[in-house]
Amino acid sequence: MIESQYDLVVIGSGPAGQKAAIQAAKAGKSVALIEQTRELGGSCVHRGTIPSKTLKENALRVKNMRSNAELSHFQLREDVELATLIDRLNEVLAEHDSYMRRQLERNEITLIHGRAKFLSPNQLEVTKLQQEAECISAANIIIASGSHPRQPPNIHIDHEYIFDSDSILSMMYLPKSLTVLGGGVIASEYASIFQALGVKVTMIDRYPRPLGFLDDDLTDVFIQAFEQMGGTWVGNTVVEECHWNNVDSVETVCADGNIYKSEKLLCAAGRLANVKDLHIEQAGLALNDAGLISVDGQLRTSVPHIFAAGDVIGPPSLASASMEQGRRASCNALDISVGKMHSMIPTGIYSIPELSSVGLSETQARKTHGDVLVGKAKFDEIARGQISGVQNGMLKIVCDAQGEKVLGVMIVGEGATELVHVGQMALLHEADVDLFVDCIFNFPTLAEAYRVAALQIIGQRNAKR
Ligand SMILES: Cc1cc2nc3c(=O)[nH]c(=O)nc-3n(C[C@H](O)[C@H](O)[C@H](O)COP(=O)(O)OP(=O)(O)OC[C@H]3O[C@@H](n4cnc5c(N)ncnc54)[C@H](O)[C@@H]3O)c2cc1C
Repeated sequence: MIESQYDLVVIGSGPAGQKAAIQAAKAGKSVALIEQTRELGGSCVHRGTIPSKTLKENALRVKNMRSNAELSHFQLREDVELATLIDRLNEVLAEHDSYMRRQLERNEITLIHGRAKFLSPNQLEVTKLQQEAECISAANIIIASGSHPRQPPNIHIDHEYIFDSDSILSMMYLPKSLTVLGGGVIASEYASIFQALGVKVTMIDRYPRPLGFLDDDLTDVFIQAFEQMGGTWVGNTVVEECHWNNVDSVETVCADGNIYKSEKLLCAAGRLANVKDLHIEQAGLALNDAGLISVDGQLRTSVPHIFAAGDVIGPPSLASASMEQGRRASCNALDISVGKMHSMIPTGIYSIPELSSVGLSETQARKTHGDVLVGKAKFDEIARGQISGVQNGMLKIVCDAQGEKVLGVMIVGEGATELVHVGQMALLHEADVDLFVDCIFNFPTLAEAYRVAALQIIGQRNAKR
């Protein structure tokens, strides 16, 4: 067996692994990056973030053309191929792949194509396609092997009628109807995207409302917008099983006796860490109760020279957070000074309409701070919202009881995932809410909603004094 030796080896080329490898190489270390698939970039690039966001942009265009139907007489063809709706994706992916390869080359990172497994705490074996296995020793190892969709035991995902989030975009044609199981981020994104494309979507979840980590007034706007487009939200409902009826539809049988029929089904029931083939026990590691790899504040596992980053360590399970975790894991492994990772990571939900939040929700703030003051601005009350016809939008600021310190910002409405960064900066700098009033925003913009919401809080503060 070939044997090689590196300062640092990274398993996985997703956002976490990529940033980890680049950071170590920039510090002058010898680095190898192991990736089992032909393509680089992980779920983020190939099955998650980029493809779903590309589809979302096109769904929004379709929706807008429909709402301007009087001008354009627009109608989507009945037999439209999904590939048409994710146009240019292959170009985007190819470009991304070649950019990543150039970046690895430039930084003299050895890319090893194969599946890694631990032989011992410092040794990995990489199984390569039709080639001799390679044995790799490393002073430091970063596990960035990502995650895959969870398959509930009562649902048989056949990738023909019943899909998971990895396979949903491999559907050839847009179905007439789709059942979405789940009420999390991926479920909400795909449910609203397909509904905007004219598919009749039914979303079913055991909880009363989707996206339960957000405040009810935001998810109310989401449900309302989804139902206005023609979708159906079915909350408080447990799915017993679902199957293709061998004739014309997938039947979803619920505990309350209801049966929902649709042409296709998407099961979005969470994600599990990719550790199956890694043999982490041979490194002296074990999974925690949630099936994830536990790490400390430095992203170090229970074995001091092995670190883990990204989806394999669990929430927030975002590409944005994974990149920063990867970079930090590398710095910590190599004793490069890096400050504490802050908790102000925004959550972006690219549904139609978008949702985004940073800091504490109103519910969380009431639990931790008792009394709080809240200011809201509806997009249809703001000039830019009226001009652009942006409806179903709201920005909410949560402030401490004195009406001074900003505790959190939550937004629903198109543009939410961009707008949230204004709030993020205020939170990072522990700003007073007055900052949003002192700041002169461009007019007309949606960002002006910050000022309107902040003025509401200041009004409440003055009334209290
Ligand atoms: C539908 C969907 C939409 C999403 N949208 C967003 C979004 O809008 N914004 C956002 O921030 N995040 C989004 N995410 C989440 C984001 O994709 C993940 O958080 C991110 O990809 C995690 O990065 P990672 O590096 O941990 O793992 P991954 O991207 O999963 O990469 C892991 C890599 O490791 C490789 N690997 C695994 N095991 C081995 C092994 N034994 N040997 C060699 N290689 C191995 C895999 O092949 C893979 O390439 C979305 C996810 C999905 C599914």
